[in-house]
Amino acid sequence: MRIPRPGKIVCVGRNYVEHAKELGNDVPERPLLFLKPPSALLGDGETIVLPAASSQVEHEGEIGVVIGRALRNADERAAREAVGGITCVNDVTARDLQKTDGQWTRAKGFDTFCPAGPVVWTPPPDFDLRLLRIFCRVNGTVRQAGKAADMVFSIPALLSYISQVMTLEPGDLVSTGTPAGVGPLVAGDVVEIEIPGVGVLRNPVASAV
Ligand code: MG
Repeated sequence: MRIPRPGKIVCVGRNYVEHAKELGNDVPERPLLFLKPPSALLGDGETIVLPAASSQVEHEGEIGVVIGRALRNADERAAREAVGGITCVNDVTARDLQKTDGQWTRAKGFDTFCPAGPVVWTPPPDFDLRLLRIFCRVNGTVRQAGKAADMVFSIPALLSYISQVMTLEPGDLVSTGTPAGVGPLVAGDVVEIEIPGVGVLRNPVASAV
């Protein structure tokens, strides 16, 4: 099953201090934004395909936010009210191409590089989004464990910031950055992204044939 196809997928880089450090980067002064194409979307249970162009594909478990109502030039309060749902995202990345290309479009944009789901959970209006946690497991071993409370820029701050640039429309997906622990995926792996209370997104990994 796939989540409803978003009009756009907006992603945030280096939004956890420890992850920025592990790749030798500083935490940005402002949210670092990039886009993934909606054609990269993959459903729960579907296969992540390792492209021949990369020899270093990595998982990035992330908290995904599905926009519930249009946002433009919004403050953080309005941004919080526009959170339509929470879902698990795997921001699959060809790390070698990310480094050599400079621009991240190819590294982040291959088909199957945006597993999302398995469900979209609607938080109650008074739910504190900082309580969300995110885990990534590969073949049952925990690789990443993060807390929204450790984000450099909170979910409402991110949505507000993005809305100063582009209108966020209902159904758009915002992926809020990955905690430390990113690592390689190889053919035969099974990768799971879990947000406790939301669900587990599980995808096998295979080589392109
Ligand atoms: Mg990411």
